[in-house]
Amino acid sequence: MSLIESLKTRADSQCELCQSKDLLDAYSVPPSENATIDQSVLLCSMCLSSLNATEASEHWRCLSDTMWSTEPAVQVMAWRLLTQLNEHAWANGLLDGLYLEDDVLQWAQSIENSHDDDQLMTRDSNGAPLATGDSVTLIKDLVVKGANFTAKRGTSVKNIRLTDNPLHIEGKVNGTQIVLVSAFLKKQA
Ligand SMILES: [Zn+2]
Repeated sequence: MSLIESLKTRADSQCELCQSKDLLDAYSVPPSENATIDQSVLLCSMCLSSLNATEASEHWRCLSDTMWSTEPAVQVMAWRLLTQLNEHAWANGLLDGLYLEDDVLQWAQSIENSHDDDQLMTRDSNGAPLATGDSVTLIKDLVVKGANFTAKRGTSVKNIRLTDNPLHIEGKVNGTQIVLVSAFLKKQA
């Protein structure tokens, strides 16, 4: 039996997130590729096109029924979608009631963590990761607000410090500690 046929048998030929019977297809729950049935869910075209689309939030109210599925892959999908929608009170309420076994929760969070790490990484104009203590070169003239000087292109900034914001670093230019935009810097080899 093919994957899609096995999924249809498991799911009684209904979308596992909204129970629609329209245009069903197999979906591999990330990060798996070439997923087995345990890592796949059966989704309708509406759900497939609504993934990652928080503007489709109303559609995802269907999760209030399907999040109770016993299939870990479905639980992971529900958990991730509700987490994405957590600015909506109804989604938060559902998420509160969604209990996942430890290993399932770990799976659900696996993608979120890698995503977060990537977003939090401070990178220079070439995408090279920056770390506290690195030296960088300005790749354009920057007017330093409040300090009344322009940091010239080519200026070297030694011993930078990362900030909470991956788009900004701190460093000393002309003896003044200032905030610099990571995208206007080049890491020195
Ligand atoms: Zn659906």
